[in-house]
Amino acid sequence: MTSQARHTLPTHDVVNQPPSRGGTNVWSSDLVLQNTARFSGARTDPLASYGDVLGRSETRELGREANRHPPELRLFDQGGRRLDEVRFHPSYHKIMGVSQSAGYASLAWDGQPGGHATHAAMMYMAGQIEPGHCCPLTMTYAAIPALEANKDLAAIWRPKLMARSYDPSTKPVEQKASATLGMAMTEKQGGSDVRANTTIATRDGDHWRLHGHKWFCSAPMCDGFLTLAQAPGGLTCFLVPRWLDGERNAIHLMRLKDKLGNKANASSEIEYHDALAFQLGDEGAGVRTIIEMVHHTRLDTAVAPAGLMRAALVEAHHWVLHRSAFQRRLIDQPLMRSVLADLVLEWEGALTLGMRVAQAFDSRTDEDKAFARISVALAKFLNNKRCPTVVVEAMEVLGGMGYVEDTQMPLLYREAPLNSIWEGSGNVICLDILRTIGRDPLAAEALQVELDKATGADRRFDEALKAHRKRWPGLPAEAEARWFVENTALLLTACQLLRHAPGAVADGYIAARLMGNSGRVPGSVSGLDTDALVARLG
Ligand SMILES: Cc1cc2nc3c(=O)[nH]c(=O)nc-3n(C[C@H](O)[C@H](O)[C@H](O)COP(=O)(O)OP(=O)(O)OC[C@H]3O[C@@H](n4cnc5c(N)ncnc54)[C@H](O)[C@@H]3O)c2cc1C
Repeated sequence: MTSQARHTLPTHDVVNQPPSRGGTNVWSSDLVLQNTARFSGARTDPLASYGDVLGRSETRELGREANRHPPELRLFDQGGRRLDEVRFHPSYHKIMGVSQSAGYASLAWDGQPGGHATHAAMMYMAGQIEPGHCCPLTMTYAAIPALEANKDLAAIWRPKLMARSYDPSTKPVEQKASATLGMAMTEKQGGSDVRANTTIATRDGDHWRLHGHKWFCSAPMCDGFLTLAQAPGGLTCFLVPRWLDGERNAIHLMRLKDKLGNKANASSEIEYHDALAFQLGDEGAGVRTIIEMVHHTRLDTAVAPAGLMRAALVEAHHWVLHRSAFQRRLIDQPLMRSVLADLVLEWEGALTLGMRVAQAFDSRTDEDKAFARISVALAKFLNNKRCPTVVVEAMEVLGGMGYVEDTQMPLLYREAPLNSIWEGSGNVICLDILRTIGRDPLAAEALQVELDKATGADRRFDEALKAHRKRWPGLPAEAEARWFVENTALLLTACQLLRHAPGAVADGYIAARLMGNSGRVPGSVSGLDTDALVARLG
C-alpha cells in the first residue's frame, strides 16, 4: 500500500508522484453514467451495488492479476489423453463470479423494465476494471434471445444462462448450476463473409454432426457455441455443446491466439471433428438466426469504448490533480484543461449515444426497434473509431508513466482497437448501415425522426443537419460510406447531448465536432467551457 510505503529514501525524497488511486465506486463516482442511466430507464439499484463491488481495490487487483497471468492451453493430460481445456488464473474465475452474480448476462431478460439499459451500464462499468471477462458474458447475454429459435433447447439452456452464479466446471449443461455460451462464426477464408464458411453439417438422426474449423472462437471454455455451418439446405445455425452426456464433444482446441490485448480472455482456434450439434432455427436460415445474437453483442461493442475512455480519463484526471510541472499543478494549466475538456466531449458523447441505443433495445414499439437496428451500428462505428485516440491522449497526460504497466493505461491501450474489429469491422458496419437504410424503410425513417427530435434547440445543429441532408439526399456511393456514417453518427451524438446533457457539453460538442471549431488532434480547440467539461470527470 502506498500509504505505508517509505518516501524518504537514501538518495532522495519521493515527491510529486500521485498517490495510488485505491478503490472507487465506479457507479457513484460517475455523474455522467448516472445521468444517462436516468434518461435511459436503467435500474439504479443493481448498478449501485455492482459499481461498489467492481470498484473496490480487491476487485481491481483481480482484474490486474487476470491480465498478468493469461490463460494457458491444456491439450492433453500427463498420459496423453485429450483434455482440450484452458486453465485460467483464479482471479479470472473470481471476477467472472462477481459479474455473473450481479446479473451482467441475465438481467436484461428477467422481464423487468430497463433491462438492456441496465445491462449496457453494467458492461460499461465492468470493462473499466477487466475487459477480457466481458467477452463470454456479453456472448451469453446475446445468445439468450437467439436460443428461442429452438424451444426445446431454450428450455434446457435458458435457466442455466439466467442463473445468477458462475459455474466453471466441465460437465453437461443439465448438471451445471449455470452456463455460458460463445459464438463460432469466423473461419480462415473470411470472417465478415460468413456465407463462404466451409464447415459442413451432416444429419445424424434428430441432430447433426459438424466437420470443419473456426479461426476465432473466443472463450472456448463456454458450455456451448452458436455456430454457422453448411447444411444441405444452406448456411444454418447450430448449438454445439462442449460436453455431452459423460464425454467431451469432439471440439478440438488447436491453439490460443497470441493477442495484442484482451489478455484475460482465451481466444482460440478450434476444429469440429464430427462434433454433435443441434439445429437452431430453420435449415438455410443461419444468418437470420444468428443475427439476433450479433445485434445484441453489437450493443455491448458500441458501449464498451465509452467505458475504456472513462477508465483512461479517470486515471488521467487523478494524475493531473496530483502532479505539478513548472511549479503549477497540471490540472491548473490551460493547455492541459483544453486536452481534458476535448476528451470529455468524446467520452460523454459516446456514453450518451450508447445509452440511448440501449434504451431503444428496451422499447417494444416498432419505431424504437427500428431505431435500435440502425443506431447500434452507428454508435459502434463512431465510438470505436474515437476510442483509441482518447486512450492514447489520456495516456500521454501521465507522461512517461502512462507507458508503464504500473498504471492501467497499457491495458486500456491494448484493448482500445478491439471492439471496432469484432462483431463487424468498420467497413462492414458502414456497408451494413447503407444496406439497412436501403432495405429497411422503418429504420431509415426512425433515424430521421430521432435526429429531428433535437431541432430547434441549437441553430448550429439545425444547419449541420440541413447541410448533411443536402449533401446526401439519398444513399452515398459505397466508397463514401465512412464519411456518410461518421457524419450521421456525429449528428446523432449531438442530438442526444442536446436532449440529455448539460448545455456546456452539447455546446462544446457542436462547436468542436459539427462546426469544425477545432483542429485534427485532441485539445486543438478554442472557446470550450473547460471548467464545466472537466467537472464532468467528478
Ligand atoms: C480477439 C478476437 C476475438 C474474436 N472472437 C471471435 C469469436 O468468438 N467468434 C467469432 O466468430 N469470431 C471472433 N473474432 C473474429 C472477428 O469477428 C473477425 O476477425 C471480424 O469479423 C473480421 O473478419 P476477418 O478477420 O475474417 O476479416 P475480413 O472479413 O477478411 O475483413 C478484413 C477487412 O476488410 C474489411 N472488409 C470486409 N468486407 C469489405 C467490403 N465489402 N468492403 C470494404 N472493406 C471490407 C473489413 O472491415 C476488415 O477491415 C474475434 C476476433 C478477435 C480479434
